[in-house]
This record gives sequence, C-alpha cells and structure tokens, in this order.
Amino acid sequence: MRDIAISNHLHQSLKRYVRIVYGHENYGSMLNRCEDKGFDKLLREYFSKRGPFGMRPPIAPKRNPFVALCELASKDEQCWCWDLFCTTCGNQLFRLSFKEIVAGKHPDIDWVLHDYGRQVVSNYNEYIANLWDIEWTNRSQRELSRIASTASLEDISKLAKFPDWLGYLGLVLYHTEKTEERSRRLTKAWIPQLIEMVDPDNYAKKRLQEILNDEEQFLRWSTLELVEKALENRVPRGRTLTDE
Ligand SMILES: [Zn+2]
Repeated sequence: MRDIAISNHLHQSLKRYVRIVYGHENYGSMLNRCEDKGFDKLLREYFSKRGPFGMRPPIAPKRNPFVALCELASKDEQCWCWDLFCTTCGNQLFRLSFKEIVAGKHPDIDWVLHDYGRQVVSNYNEYIANLWDIEWTNRSQRELSRIASTASLEDISKLAKFPDWLGYLGLVLYHTEKTEERSRRLTKAWIPQLIEMVDPDNYAKKRLQEILNDEEQFLRWSTLELVEKALENRVPRGRTLTDE
C-alpha cells in the first residue's frame, strides 16, 4: 500500500512540475510524451532542479492563481462543491482556497487543498484547522477581487467544465460582495468578457450592459444564472447552477 501511495504522489508531483515548467497548455501532450518514454528522463530533471517532494519549482508560474484554482477544482478527483446553498460542506474547499490565494499561495505550487493534500503536508488536519481560523476580512475580499479581476474568463471557460466555472465565479462574487458594491472591480472586469460570450440578441447581454452602465448596480452571483441560460445552448451541457 505504501508503495502505491508514494508512486501516486510522485505522479501527481510530476504532473504539476510539467505543468509549471512547460506551461499548462502543453501539459497534456508533454505528459504523454514523458509517459511514452517512461518517467526516467523527467524524473532526473525533476530531482536535479527541484529536489524531492515539497520544494519550490524552478520557475514561478505565470498564470493567474484564480485561473489555476478553477482548473484544479474542475479536474480534481475530489468533488469541489460550488452550490452556494449547500449546508453539507458550505463550499469549504473554495472558502479555504480563497484564503490561501489571498495569502499569496498558488494552486500550481505546494498546494494542500486537493485530492492528495494529505500527502503534501503531514499535519493536514491541523493545517486545515488553522486555515479555518483565519478571518475573512474586507481586506481579504479586496485582495481576492484584485486577483480574480485580472483572470481571463475565456481561459477559465476552456480549462474548467461548464457550468461549474460560472459557479466558481459566483462564489467569488458572493464572498466579495461587501467590497464589490463600492469598488465594482469585478463588475467592470468581468461583464465586458461575459458580454463577449453571449449572443448579442440574448437578454443576458442587455441585463449585463445595464449593470455595467449603472454606477448604483454591481455584478452579483445571481446574474450568472442568466449567463448560464444564455450559454447553455452554445456549449455541451453539464450540471446546472441549481443542481447538486
Ligand atoms: Zn457542498
């Protein structure tokens, strides 16, 4: 059993390494090539540059941490619940992840919140308990908003399943609502991108434009349900925002 756990962890670490060093867009094909040849070459490179488990990767990731989080949440083996009204988990993986991102952590590097998190830190339960203790302040909201506002929604829509990724955006809007009302940062950053995605004659476009133009209004998670309806005929169907 021990051997299986270690090799699974190593495999996950290598996947992350390939993604960081060779870019996430090349990561699938790169990994296939490495798997074809066996992991030997990659293993040597991994250990020479990075050292065994848990060390920093040789280069800093360039992509936006929220984009990386959306990809992780959508592809992770753990089910990342984004149902705002869930009383079972309360979207805990997202709430904790937002705290991590605000603290400067990046989902591509030494990240604990995923299906093999227990293998990344030995004190997993203590780590999670400490994260829960961190207060979600207005400052935290502003920082998450700043990071998420520079994310490309097109990138997110390509990396994460539909409509889950809209649910992820909804969670950010929900957890930054207090500061968004004043700053309208996400409203101004995301609405033009959402408008680009929906059909020009769709009601969602009209409503989004209205919110963008009116200083008194701001983008809320509930508006994303309109966007979901507008997009669902244009992309393969997954779950809907109200399922779970
Ligand atoms: Zn849940």
